[in-house]
Amino acid sequence: MRRLLIVLPITLLALGACQDHPTSPVVRPLESRGGSSNTNVVHVIYLVPSDRSVQKGYEKRLKRAMENLQIWYRNALGTGESFSLAKRIVQVYRTPHTASWYATQPNDCSATLIFWCNTLDEGFALTRGMFNDPHNIWVFYIDSDPACGQAVGGTSGVALLPANDLRGLVGQTTSNVCTGAPEPDQGVNRWVGGLGHELGHAFGLPHPAECDPVQTASCPLQSIMWFGYLTYPDAFLTDDEKTFLEASPFFAPIHLPTKLPTVGR
Ligand SMILES: [Zn+2]
Repeated sequence: MRRLLIVLPITLLALGACQDHPTSPVVRPLESRGGSSNTNVVHVIYLVPSDRSVQKGYEKRLKRAMENLQIWYRNALGTGESFSLAKRIVQVYRTPHTASWYATQPNDCSATLIFWCNTLDEGFALTRGMFNDPHNIWVFYIDSDPACGQAVGGTSGVALLPANDLRGLVGQTTSNVCTGAPEPDQGVNRWVGGLGHELGHAFGLPHPAECDPVQTASCPLQSIMWFGYLTYPDAFLTDDEKTFLEASPFFAPIHLPTKLPTVGR
C-alpha cells in the first residue's frame, strides 16, 4: 500500500495557519465537476495538523491552481482532453497530530520515507484514498515540514506536497528545510508548476528518459516533468508524455475555458 516511492528533484518548503473544519466524514464525490462525463477524478486534500489552523487562503489558492492546471494540461495536450476534478475540488481535514509529528514519529519505513508514510497513512485513513485507485487521483497537501532529506512527491495515483508548497502558492516566504533559512521568492507559478509536476507523476509519468537518470543533450529541459515546473506556465509535454496521458483513463474530452487563468500574484 504505502510502500511505493518516488522522489523527485523538487524541493518543497513551508508555513501556515487559520481555522475550523471538523474531521469530516468521508465524502467521495463520484461525479466530476465541469463539462466532462469522466467519473475518474482528481481530489485535492488539504491536511491541517492539530497545532495549525485552516488557512482559507491555502484552500482557495489550491482550487485555483487545480483549475489552472486542468486548462494547462488541456492546452499542452492539444487534443481537447484533460483530467476532471472532484465535485468538491479541495477537501479540508484536520488531523489528530501536531505538525512536527509527521517528520519525527518513527514508523516501519526507511528514514527518508518517515514523513511520506506518516502523512499518507493518516491521509488515506481520513479519505479512503489509496495508491493506484483506478477512479481517483489523490493529491495531499499537509501544513507540515518534512525534515531535511525526507521525501515528498508523486507516484502511482498519489502526490504529497508539504507546507512550503502551501506557502509558495499564497506568496508567503518559504524556508529551506535543511537550514531553516528563508528562500528567495520564486513566484506563485513555480508552486503551481510544482503541483503540475507531481500530478504528472501521480498520473504515472516518469521524468523524461533523456533527462533521468542521466541528463543528455536531448533532454527536454522545459518539460513539466523536468525543469518546466520552474518556468510554469512556460513548459510543455513531450510527445511521449502526450501519448501516455492520451491513454490514461483520467483524461477525456472536457469543456473548459480557453484562456489560462491567473492563479495569483
Ligand atoms: Zn519528478
